[in-house]
Amino acid sequence: MTNRSPKLVDGMGRTIVNLRISVTDRCNFRCTYCMPADNVAFMDRSNLLTFEEIRRVVTVVSKLGINRIRLTGGEPLMRKDLPGLIKMLSAVDGIDDIAMTTNAYFLKDQAQDLLDAGLKRLNVSLDALDPEKFRDVNRRDCLQAVLDGLDAARNVGFKSIKINAVAVRNFSETEIMRLIEMGRADGFEVRFIEFMPLDADKVWERDKVLFGHEIIERIREKYELIPIDNSLEIGPASEYNFADGKGKIGIITAVSNPFCDHCNRIRMTADGKLRTCLFSADETNLKELIRSGETDAAIAATIQQAVQVKEPGHKINLKDFERPTRAMHAIGG
Ligand code: SAM
Ligand code: SF4
Repeated sequence: MTNRSPKLVDGMGRTIVNLRISVTDRCNFRCTYCMPADNVAFMDRSNLLTFEEIRRVVTVVSKLGINRIRLTGGEPLMRKDLPGLIKMLSAVDGIDDIAMTTNAYFLKDQAQDLLDAGLKRLNVSLDALDPEKFRDVNRRDCLQAVLDGLDAARNVGFKSIKINAVAVRNFSETEIMRLIEMGRADGFEVRFIEFMPLDADKVWERDKVLFGHEIIERIREKYELIPIDNSLEIGPASEYNFADGKGKIGIITAVSNPFCDHCNRIRMTADGKLRTCLFSADETNLKELIRSGETDAAIAATIQQAVQVKEPGHKINLKDFERPTRAMHAIGG
C-alpha cells in the first residue's frame, strides 16, 4: 500500500478515496428500475474513454489519494477485454482495490480472466430467485446464466462476492428470504438497496420503495441479527451479522436514511464526465480536458475543484428534488 496524504477533501470535510468508473452505458438486460424496455439511445463508441484514457484518469486520482476503484456500467462485461483494463489499472501505483458490479450474465466465461487480471471483489445484481419474477424485473429470461456466473466466480476463487437486490415494494417481499437463504448457504453477503429515482421509465414513487427497516423486520421474524458497528464508515451499507455466526447482510437505505454524511466516492461516466454525486445536476468534462491535451496537473486541479463543491447530500426527500437527466445505466451505479 502506498502512503499518500489525501488531497481530495470536499467542502464538508469528507475525504474521497473511491472512484466508480462506468465503462459502458450498454447492457444486455433491461431492468425495470434502470433502463427502458426498448429504443435506448446509447452513447456513440467514439465518445467512450479508451482504456488508456481511463488509466490516465486513475493515475491522476491515485496521486490525490484515491485507492479504490469500482468498474460498473451499463454492464461492464459488455466492454471488450475488460480483464485487459483491470490489468492496466492494477499496475497503477497506489490502487489497492479493484471491484466490479455486474449482472453476471457473462461471468461464467470471464471469471478466471477477471481474477487473474487483478479484480478483487465482485457485486452481482440479483433481485429474484423465482424465474418468473426475475424475468419480470430484468426483462430477460436468464436466471440460470446469472446463477452459473455466481458459481463460476466462487469456483475460480473470488473471496468477496456480494449480491445486490433492489428493494421494490410489492415485488421484493417474496424474494428476501430466498436470497438470504442462498447467501447463507453459499457464502454471499446479500445487500438490499432501496429503489432510487433513477429509472429511465420515471415510474419511481416513494410508495414503490420497500424500506430497509421493513426488510430487517422481516428477516428478524426468522433470524436474530446483530448490527455491525461503524459499517457506514466503510461503505454505503448498514451491515448485520446473523447471531448464529452464519454470514451477514447489508441494507442500503439510500432513500429512507441516506449515507451522504459518510460518502467517500465520486463517479466517472463512460463518456468521461466526473459526477460528484449519483444525483449530480452538474458534470465535469474530463474527456474534453484529456483530448485537448491538458496536463495531469490541470486535470488534477479540475478534479479537486469539482470535489470541493461536492453536494452535501441528495435531495430525494426534499421538495426541490430533481431527477438527474441520466438514468442509472448511463451514470454507472
Ligand atoms: N449492470 C451492472 C449490474 O446491474 O450490476 C452494473 C450497473 S447497475 C446500474 C449497478 C447497480 O445499480 C446494480 O446493483 C443495480 O441493481 C443498481 N440499480 C440500478 N438502478 C437502480 C435504482 N433505480 N435504484 C437502486 N439501485 C439501482
Ligand atoms: Fe443493466 Fe445493471 Fe441497469 Fe440492470 S441494473 S439494466 S443489468 S445496467
